[in-house]
Amino acid sequence: MKIVRLTTYQAAPRWLFLKIETDEGISGWGEPVIEGRAGTVEAAVHELGDYLIGQDPARINDLWQTLYRGGFYRGGAILMSAIAGIDQALWDIKGKALGVPVYQLLGGLVREHMKTYRWVGGDRPADIVAQMRRYQALGFDTFKFNCTEELKLIDSPRAVDAAVAKVAAIREAMGEAVDFGIDFHGRVSAPMARVLLRELAPFRPLFVEEPVLPEQWEYYRPLSDATPIPLAAGERMYSRAEFKPVLAAGGLAILQPDLSHAGGITECVKIAAMAEAYDVALAPHCPLGPVALAACLQVDFVSYNAMLQEQSIGIHYNEGADLLDYVLNKDDFRCVDGSIAALPGPGLGVEIDEERLKQASLDPPRWRNPLWRHADGSVAEW
Ligand SMILES: [Mg+2]
Repeated sequence: MKIVRLTTYQAAPRWLFLKIETDEGISGWGEPVIEGRAGTVEAAVHELGDYLIGQDPARINDLWQTLYRGGFYRGGAILMSAIAGIDQALWDIKGKALGVPVYQLLGGLVREHMKTYRWVGGDRPADIVAQMRRYQALGFDTFKFNCTEELKLIDSPRAVDAAVAKVAAIREAMGEAVDFGIDFHGRVSAPMARVLLRELAPFRPLFVEEPVLPEQWEYYRPLSDATPIPLAAGERMYSRAEFKPVLAAGGLAILQPDLSHAGGITECVKIAAMAEAYDVALAPHCPLGPVALAACLQVDFVSYNAMLQEQSIGIHYNEGADLLDYVLNKDDFRCVDGSIAALPGPGLGVEIDEERLKQASLDPPRWRNPLWRHADGSVAEW
């Protein structure tokens, strides 16, 4: 079997899909994307395609190493996302060629179903509580929401009080029947994280995500030493090489690699195994589309330490299209009591509605995250 063609589709809300075709009629799908830079990753995919055309898609390990090492320069958000989507498509092809789900090729299931959680948007506690109640009625009991809007490097106790009041109101309204993670979203400086973690501890969040920016990862350890709240991070780290010093330093309880950013299935099963060796849980980041989610699930179902799967069905970022819009079988990701069963189909287990995608790709949005500024006019982290 030989790879003959790579086709990409940018589509709403902010996604990029890749189809890799072979000379034997089997094709595979990937989602190589960094949110807000879909066109840049798309260009990288087609540059890397020069290494793929004419090659045997079954040799995933060799092709991965070729893409990673072959160009001398490596790593980072763009190149590792391009490799990630290519890698997903190659696993999809291999599974389809052999007639088995990818998790069978990775050693088989370690669990019967995978717990997922729901993002809830909005900044007013009443809005967040209303959404939680709606999802709770559908069987979900675990949620995540943002802690604050922009926060200054050193901000007033009033800003801390506002964040704490929000979390307190949510815990008060929902009681102990739900768990929630609180996303600091890299908006919080190390000194403010120290204060916020202390103040939020009484409300017993399941975890705090990106307590500081990933480039401030040295603070994970001292922050975790000062709080009982488990700390989570990893959506903006792209390879084993980047996770290595972070795991070795300690401080993180939950690792959140993104299957579309961190080198795909090939790299993320290894990152998961590294985390397991440190007694660190896995909760893959996934505010993306159906191929990315299917790839996450392949890793979750073979990784003992996978504890929670993020998923974007109905997420507030999904303007113009939602996850199931591009899927032929709408039951693929059916959640029962907040959990998803292993997808039984061969490869990644999800069938993409290519006609729908072609239509969507005629007019893709140029999605960008909001650009925030502090009151003094300086740029704020979003
Ligand atoms: Mg996050």
